[in-house]
Amino acid sequence: MNATAAQPNPRRIAVIGGGISGLAAAHRLVELEPTCEIALFEKRSRLGGALWTKHERGFQVELGVDNFITTLPWGLALCRRLGLEEQLIQTSPDYRQPFVVCRGRLHKLPDGFLMMAPTRMWPLAVTPILSIRGKLRCALEYFLPPSKDETDESIASFVRRRLGREAYERLVEPLIGAVYATDPDELSLAATLPRFREMERQHGSLVRAMRRQMATRRRQQKGDEESGARFGMFVTLREGLSSLVDAITRRLPRHAVRLGTPVERIERCGDGWRLWTSHLARGESPEGKSEDFDAVMMAAPSYVAAELLEPHDSELAANLASITHSSTAILSLAFDDKQIAHPLDGMGIVVPAVERSAILACSLSSRKYAHRAPEGKILLRVFVGASRWPEMDAMDDGELRRRLLGELVELLGIDGQPIYESIARWPRSMPQYRVGHKELVEHIEARAAALPNFELCGNAYHGVGIPDCIHGAEQAAERVLRPGRARQNG
Ligand SMILES: Cc1cc2nc3c(=O)[nH]c(=O)nc-3n(C[C@H](O)[C@H](O)[C@H](O)COP(=O)(O)OP(=O)(O)OC[C@H]3O[C@@H](n4cnc5c(N)ncnc54)[C@H](O)[C@@H]3O)c2cc1C
Repeated sequence: MNATAAQPNPRRIAVIGGGISGLAAAHRLVELEPTCEIALFEKRSRLGGALWTKHERGFQVELGVDNFITTLPWGLALCRRLGLEEQLIQTSPDYRQPFVVCRGRLHKLPDGFLMMAPTRMWPLAVTPILSIRGKLRCALEYFLPPSKDETDESIASFVRRRLGREAYERLVEPLIGAVYATDPDELSLAATLPRFREMERQHGSLVRAMRRQMATRRRQQKGDEESGARFGMFVTLREGLSSLVDAITRRLPRHAVRLGTPVERIERCGDGWRLWTSHLARGESPEGKSEDFDAVMMAAPSYVAAELLEPHDSELAANLASITHSSTAILSLAFDDKQIAHPLDGMGIVVPAVERSAILACSLSSRKYAHRAPEGKILLRVFVGASRWPEMDAMDDGELRRRLLGELVELLGIDGQPIYESIARWPRSMPQYRVGHKELVEHIEARAAALPNFELCGNAYHGVGIPDCIHGAEQAAERVLRPGRARQNG
């Protein structure tokens, strides 16, 4: 055996974008192939994208992402692999009830109403949120035949068809709007909540399907309690979600992360890629410098991917560019408990569009997770989106604050000024999964697969939530390392 035989050079892989998708992709590459050379390019001077925690004046403020869901396994699984399991905390069991605004007042969401369907009819029958007519129309759902039309439809059209207009406007629209920051009249059912269409198909009725699911879940929960399963529906990390970003970064090779380094252009180079970057902190001009890689993982927003891919496949670029993104903003406000008349004994407030409010939702951040505020204080996060309120894009922070605080004072009976406040703007941050999104993404992925050693991941394709982003990125990393591996979604 020749001991001096040359070892093959390690593969050099570039990851473009340092949000949770790019981080999860880079981490998976290192996990599976510790010898590969990774460069993670991030335009901003920090990693994490919408994961960004600040600790200020005794408050733990999440400027973007609040928590993530545990019913999809990939967020929890990554935290476990990073040794963060002991830091995971779930929402306070005392404050799991959401409120809905109805005619300017807060009402508890009827017990058992889960996103798009009721699991219990009695709370719906007695809620003051719906009229008698609206309640009867909801009850009719049990008897309506399922649709035979297999084409995608909007969430709004599906819910109006099943539960009626009033339940849609007063209950479903605010819940969906708060999660997707999108008009549900445009939001694709197949790309966002396909399980509800599946329930209709399989059980004939959402109410019937939900009741059966709840019965199974109750049996499972009993089993989980007996086996000591730990988490509720949502979790965060004790030190804030930036600690997930830090834990991933610590696992990446030294010098892998290039902050303040936007990728300006990508060029085919045989079967590999040449990336042109500039280093903003060093004042380099765009296209300052080039580097060659064996493979590229594109984890930047789809509109950035569109610009970079335009010279290589203009149809792919046009399809990517057709995924629009809406802007959002979060105003964090803290008060002494005694400044607020309402007891705020819940996890959050959602506001229907018919209320003509700028606010999409208000998370009762320190009720959900008590460690986020000192004793006797309450931290709120007011969430607004340009899909509901396009004027917000043109407003400066002062105007935005005045408008939102004014609405909140009236809604909650607040006395005096906040003791802490901050605003975070998230321009073009929420991809809009419009009707037909699934087919569009299939088309995009088929064309992207024709580019050698190239993978797309990020929140524009298979789900905007953190677990979905992690899953999509990890799968893409696996495909980069093992070309030929089939794409599996879901
Ligand atoms: C305000 C807000 C609240 C949210 N709350 C929740 C929540 O509570 N729970 C949940 O599950 N999900 C939540 N989401 C959704 C979730 O946070 C996002 O879908 C997810 O973080 C997207 O991650 P990403 O890495 O795909 O994209 P991004 O976070 O957008 O990351 C892309 C990165 O690419 C970088 N980039 C852009 N251009 C270039 C370039 N040319 N070169 C190099 N880098 C570039 C950007 O600077 C950015 O850092 C929220 C989103 C927002 C905006």
